Amino acid sequence: MSDWTPTRAAGLERMQAFVPGMGRAYAVGRNTDPGPGGAYAVSRLSPWVRRRLVGEDELARAALEAHGPRAAEKFVQEVIWRTYWKGWLELRPQVWDRYLVTRDQARAAAARDPALARDPALARDLAAAEAGTTGIDAFDAWARELAETGWLHNHARMWFASIWVFTLRLPWALGADLFLRRLMDGDPASNTLSWRWVAGLQTVGKTYLATADNIARYTDGRFRPQGLARSAEPLVEAEPVGPTRPLPPAARETPAGPHLLLVTPEDLTPEHLIGPWEIAGVALVAGPDAATEGPARTFLDGALADAGARAGARYGAEPVRLTMLDGAALSARARAVGAIGVVTPAAPVGPMATALAAAREELATEGLALVEVRRDWDAALWPLATKGFFPFKEKAPQVLVGLGLPV
Ligand SMILES: Cc1cc2nc3c(=O)[nH]c(=O)nc-3n(C[C@H](O)[C@H](O)[C@H](O)COP(=O)(O)OP(=O)(O)OC[C@H]3O[C@@H](n4cnc5c(N)ncnc54)[C@H](O)[C@@H]3O)c2cc1C
Repeated sequence: MSDWTPTRAAGLERMQAFVPGMGRAYAVGRNTDPGPGGAYAVSRLSPWVRRRLVGEDELARAALEAHGPRAAEKFVQEVIWRTYWKGWLELRPQVWDRYLVTRDQARAAAARDPALARDPALARDLAAAEAGTTGIDAFDAWARELAETGWLHNHARMWFASIWVFTLRLPWALGADLFLRRLMDGDPASNTLSWRWVAGLQTVGKTYLATADNIARYTDGRFRPQGLARSAEPLVEAEPVGPTRPLPPAARETPAGPHLLLVTPEDLTPEHLIGPWEIAGVALVAGPDAATEGPARTFLDGALADAGARAGARYGAEPVRLTMLDGAALSARARAVGAIGVVTPAAPVGPMATALAAAREELATEGLALVEVRRDWDAALWPLATKGFFPFKEKAPQVLVGLGLPV
């Protein structure tokens, strides 16, 4: 079994242990899913990366220093897939809003209470898929692995999403919702856009079809599911995605004067980001966050406590956990520690950014500013996500050089 200790120290230790695997062995083995307890060629670092207990810059640097740009190319490319998805959604927040509408419509149709469900057959099929009782052995095993461990291999995620959409014919947004609730690395950008990609919405017209042969090959023969869809007609969106917006403004350093540091699950290494500024107090908040179930919730709670302890020690302040993320709670806490404003790592598009935008307005009425600070990595790379991944990947090395990485 894997050790999912939700601390920065454990994440860095796992990263160090995986450094030898970041070179050619990764490129050769990354598509194979050996299953729980097997010998993985991937790092399984995503829960730490998602919460920024370990940074993308730290991963890329470790790979490049150990293996050089050629041998580390595949690993670094996967790391920057994450960066690309984050940037892509940040420039197109309407895609997140549209996902929420689609999800809520599908949720209403599939409501568990038969008196409420508009589509009882959908409600029944959804329950079977979530519980892993569809009768498709591989799919059911992944559904149970997800519930029990909070993690799935990338290839299993692709097969699972493909079977969900094209064989079980379930709404893609409910599958994305399930992942977001149950994955320890559940992320609005990587998750929503990967589901869209499988369904043919992201690269318009291009879908991902899971086949029995491919599954058998890359699960070392553990599964060869029968009865899978033989074709994958792309889903179609009523409206095109629409134009990009510029990257929203954010600070690169904390302003002068005493501030309350707000630690959110969007970045759990804030002391590393914000530097030696005047932090008068530390507040932690877990919600709103999608990780609401099982191991995902346990990982998030532990990671938040770890970040609070580190930030508290760094700034000599006892961290206080807020139950609500709203302007009233924040301004009360800021006033209690004599702060003139609240500073927090910039939250990318998702539930936390929406909640912070509302809190910002409430704080302003109290004369308190909310300052969001963006990491250099994000500020440099996200604006490049204007088109597809391949133009992004072409431009990335120059930026990595500028960030001091040995590319
Ligand atoms: C349908 C679907 C849903 C997904 N949902 C999420 C999600 O909610 N959160 C999430 O972090 N990833 C998601 N992914 C991407 C990917 O599956 C995971 O990031 C990866 O499996 C994590 O395993 P690892 O840490 O061993 O990755 P490694 O292969 O060791 O890669 C190192 C790091 O690079 C990043 N990375 C690797 N592959 C990808 C990828 N294809 N896309 C984006 N980033 C990548 C991750 O941060 C990962 O920790 C999803 C993929 C699919 C197909």
